[in-house]
Amino acid sequence: MIKIGLVGLGHLGKIHLKNLIELSQLYEITAVFDENSALRHEISNLHNVPQVNSYKDLLNRCDAVIIVTPTVTHYELAVEAIKRQLPVFIEKPMVETMEEAKRLVSLIDEAGIHVQVGHVERFNPAFLEAQKYLESPMFIETHRLAQFNPRGTDVPVVLDLMIHDIDIVLSTVKSRVKRISASGVSIISDSHDIANARIEFENGCVANLTSSRLSLKNMRKSRFFQKDAYISVDFLNKELEVVRMENIVGEPDPFDIVLDLGKDDIKKKIWIEKPDLDKSNAINDELQEFYKCITTNKSPIVDHHSGYNAMEVALEILAIMS
Ligand code: NAD
Repeated sequence: MIKIGLVGLGHLGKIHLKNLIELSQLYEITAVFDENSALRHEISNLHNVPQVNSYKDLLNRCDAVIIVTPTVTHYELAVEAIKRQLPVFIEKPMVETMEEAKRLVSLIDEAGIHVQVGHVERFNPAFLEAQKYLESPMFIETHRLAQFNPRGTDVPVVLDLMIHDIDIVLSTVKSRVKRISASGVSIISDSHDIANARIEFENGCVANLTSSRLSLKNMRKSRFFQKDAYISVDFLNKELEVVRMENIVGEPDPFDIVLDLGKDDIKKKIWIEKPDLDKSNAINDELQEFYKCITTNKSPIVDHHSGYNAMEVALEILAIMS
């Protein structure tokens, strides 16, 4: 059992807490802390978990920390935990500035501890299943559209929403970023609420990412195009659709869907698959991964280097847009 401390009991902190309680065979919740004292007392009483009056007290009582506070506070809280050699789970985005990201990565590497960043979409069952089909996508189109919610507006939409897709794209395309172009607009908040970025990679792949927090409906979809295949990942509904093409050798089967390419010598048939997916809970899965990494010395799927890489691209997009 890992003695775990949870800091930040707002919207997502409560979800982490619920999952930690469900994972009582892995974690013993030894302290929760939120700077809002009324909130931490309320949550402590509601779930019968020990609350503490300071972050320092929390660090004294646990073997690992989960940080679910606003992004501007991540760096300071993470550094305190790292100084004590405690493994840390930090919600995304890892930190707020590139300077913080650089300093944090070098502190973590020096300390040699496990740090996992909450890019939860990597644990989305639709994306996990898509790994079976994704080879070398050459065009990626992502849409992450959300209805307006004042939570998260402390950072631009690129750091709030688009960063999920930046991480997904960087984990999928095995090539270096060559060029980025981007534009964004502020409609309601003081920072960009809608953003579009085009990321070109050295291998020729292009990713076109759109994020908005002013949408009338929610959508989180990525479409990957690669040789003879189209893979559509619906992160919101946890659904996957794959369309694949194969050369037909000889005469097509009567039940084949045949694609006429206008060439007599090459005919292709189309396979459309919609795998039945286990709609697992991605936050629960990422917390299990955190446990596994600490107890078996495995490297996290989303480590601080992934968190850094996503930040680097996100901040370059922001710099281009400003
Ligand atoms: P929130 O505003 O609902 O909650 C934040 C909580 O942190 C508040 O209760 C606040 O009192 C507390 N807090 C602030 N500063 C603190 C400090 N220094 N010490 C202790 N407590 C402090 O925010 P949220 O929506 O829960 O978001 C928290 C983090 O999670 C953000 O970094 C956000 O980007 C991230 N997030 C990630 C996802 C995801 O999909 N992975 C989704 C939503 C939010």
